[in-house]
Amino acid sequence: ERPAENLAVRTLEAWYGESKVLHGMTFDVRAGEVVTLLGRNGAGKTTTLKAIMGLIERREGSIRLDGAELVAVPPYGVARRGIAFCPEERGIFSSLSVRENLLLPPVVAEGGMGVDRILDLFPNLRERLDSPGTKLSGGEQQMLALGRILRTGARVLLLDEPTEGLAPVIIRQIGRTIETLKTLGFTILLVEQNVAFASGIADRHYVVELGRVVDEIPGPELETRLDALKGYLGL
Ligand code: ATP
Repeated sequence: ERPAENLAVRTLEAWYGESKVLHGMTFDVRAGEVVTLLGRNGAGKTTTLKAIMGLIERREGSIRLDGAELVAVPPYGVARRGIAFCPEERGIFSSLSVRENLLLPPVVAEGGMGVDRILDLFPNLRERLDSPGTKLSGGEQQMLALGRILRTGARVLLLDEPTEGLAPVIIRQIGRTIETLKTLGFTILLVEQNVAFASGIADRHYVVELGRVVDEIPGPELETRLDALKGYLGL
């Protein structure tokens, strides 16, 4: 229902202090796609999301959003161009209520969702509006974290392991939400360890090993190639 955007990452390198962690990540997330980064712990998936967002001290290479170079843009500038990051630890304020958490994020780009619209996407949160973050289940916290980034008006969503530690029924719910966001035109880059979940919702997958992309797999082929991938994924 509104324009999505193309993210093109080329030869991206990133360092923590002296230690180089990304060694030339190259991949695309085309407008309206759901794309996953798969790979074992420590492969560099989270660092890739942080580097796109500008949350890493030193990075080189190219990150283009519809052609505009972002590699030297600070995090608030990246956010203003319409990219949002939902961290693995979810980043909600546990001492604040659901309502307060939803009202807090700044609307940085045009088209941020209103609280009512977000509650339509996550009906469970409606009954919990006045509950503090500490009283929420893991699934409710994840939904609140997703709701908060939808407030900002971002069109490109970077999601770090949204299913981690959640029960299967909640994982299915998160999967349906991601499908809904896709139909609304969002562009989504997803870090996932849960291959079954990833294969159900993604258009394409990139396998990450030691800070670079070592394989690209079309969505429907993931299940059939799983045996060959087990080594890379540490399964
Ligand atoms: P995980 O699922 O465990 O988060 P990942 O693929 O997302 O795995 P990263 O978290 O990106 O991997 O980590 C990539 C490498 O960078 C690892 O070797 C990790 O030890 C290192 N690393 C991550 N964060 C830091 C940090 N703050 N300081 C120094 N090194 C770090």
